[in-house]
Amino acid sequence: MPLRLSVGARWALRYTLAMAATLAVFAIVVQTVAKQRSDEAAKLLARTQATELLDALETQARVGTAEEYERWCAAHIARRVAQADRELELGVRLLGFDGRLRHEAGTLRGLSVVLPPEVARGRVPLAVFSGKLGARGRFFVASSTAPGGFLQVAVSTRHWSEGLAKLRNVMLGAFPLMLLLSGASGFLLARRSLASVDEITRIADHLSSANLHETIPVTGSGDELDRLAVTLNAMLGRIRSGVEQMHRFNANAAHELRTPLHRIGSMLDATLSQPRDAAAYREALLDLRAEVNALGSGVNALLRLAQMEAGLDPAHTGPVELAKLLRTQAEFFAPLAEAREIALLLVEPLPDATVRGDASWLERLFSNLLDNALKYGRAGDRVEVTLRIEGDRARATIADTGPGIAAEDLPHLFERFARGVGHGERGGFGLGLPLAREIARAHDGALAVESEVGRGSRFSVLLPLLRAETALGPRTEPARRRGASARTRRGHEGALRRR
Ligand code: ADP
Repeated sequence: MPLRLSVGARWALRYTLAMAATLAVFAIVVQTVAKQRSDEAAKLLARTQATELLDALETQARVGTAEEYERWCAAHIARRVAQADRELELGVRLLGFDGRLRHEAGTLRGLSVVLPPEVARGRVPLAVFSGKLGARGRFFVASSTAPGGFLQVAVSTRHWSEGLAKLRNVMLGAFPLMLLLSGASGFLLARRSLASVDEITRIADHLSSANLHETIPVTGSGDELDRLAVTLNAMLGRIRSGVEQMHRFNANAAHELRTPLHRIGSMLDATLSQPRDAAAYREALLDLRAEVNALGSGVNALLRLAQMEAGLDPAHTGPVELAKLLRTQAEFFAPLAEAREIALLLVEPLPDATVRGDASWLERLFSNLLDNALKYGRAGDRVEVTLRIEGDRARATIADTGPGIAAEDLPHLFERFARGVGHGERGGFGLGLPLAREIARAHDGALAVESEVGRGSRFSVLLPLLRAETALGPRTEPARRRGASARTRRGHEGALRRR
């Protein structure tokens, strides 16, 4: 079974591992550099000792006889070794040109140290090399030619080795403590940072539609977790308003459907309250039919709204020629316009404007707008349908000279079940405009309205034009991409008073 560690423990472990790796690298670098430096120092010391001694030997060789020189050498070497720092464990040896030992003192006594061939052959005056001298440890030995033979001076590295060992011990002692500290601080840091995550988890745990008012505390530090809290609060806000909207929608839908049902019930009661003749029953049945039709159209409108919210079906989307669609709609509504004595005009020429979408949904969008214009218009009014190209968008306008919409109603116009004052009796459910707006948005477009009481209303539908390359390219699903374009002209998109 995999080991389950808390985030705090994982952070502590990671901190410790990272710290261990850092300390290991640090220790290796420090040791390497320190060893290099100490070697350089020991080597320099061996060389200095050798050159100083050589100077003295050469001076002495020039002034005295050979015997005097030899005697002086023995005494001088012994004195030099005796006076040197004990820690250096200085050793000096003088050899003849044939390799015969002439004098020696200090460490080198009794030990044989090879004379480097380049010095023995006289190619270089002085050479320094390092090596182990038996149990005495590592030494640097400087070898050079000297009057009457060769000189060898050995300097121990023990002093520096001990320093390095001390450094190593200090590091080995301090490192576990540092690892412990970094692990503990990693753990505490994680615990502190995750305290707000715990709070988010707690709130999310007992969040339900009943207590959506809860918010995650924001500390104001502006750090990542604070930003997360702000984002989650904003998300909660959106969910809250969505749920409230849903509650309102359910209540309104129930209310709207109850009214015709209530009327149907009253009609049935009235009809059945006394015996009637066949003609009276028929008349009652026709009235009932009309009520059932109205109820059916309300239920259908709700259904269509729900369908549109689920998005367009990609299988039914394709290029749609708006000019053709508007012509068909105008022809369809012509008889109704004539019956209501309203002039319905297509403002020619209609430009070529192809959009990607679902033709039947777009037909419904325009038929809702035309239906309203004719429904609320009065005899003698005009309804004009225009189509224009604006950059990469098409603008279709349905403008009427009808009664117009009250300024206070405009902000609520697109809200479900909203109807203008005095328009409730004209048999609508207040779902036509919300559906029209949903259709426009599902096509990455927008629906906007301008209206003035007594002068008329103008509904504008903005839809992105289909470019040649996208017409041939793979299909996208516009319904799920309700981006900025859909929100550009929301001038009066909103909701109308609910009744
Ligand atoms: P319905 O027509 O079923 O009432 P809609 O959503 O289509 O619902 O319209 C909502 C309200 O907007 C209408 O009740 C009406 O008051 C107003 N309205 C819509 N179109 C027009 C128009 N062309 N002229 C005047 N008022 C309109």
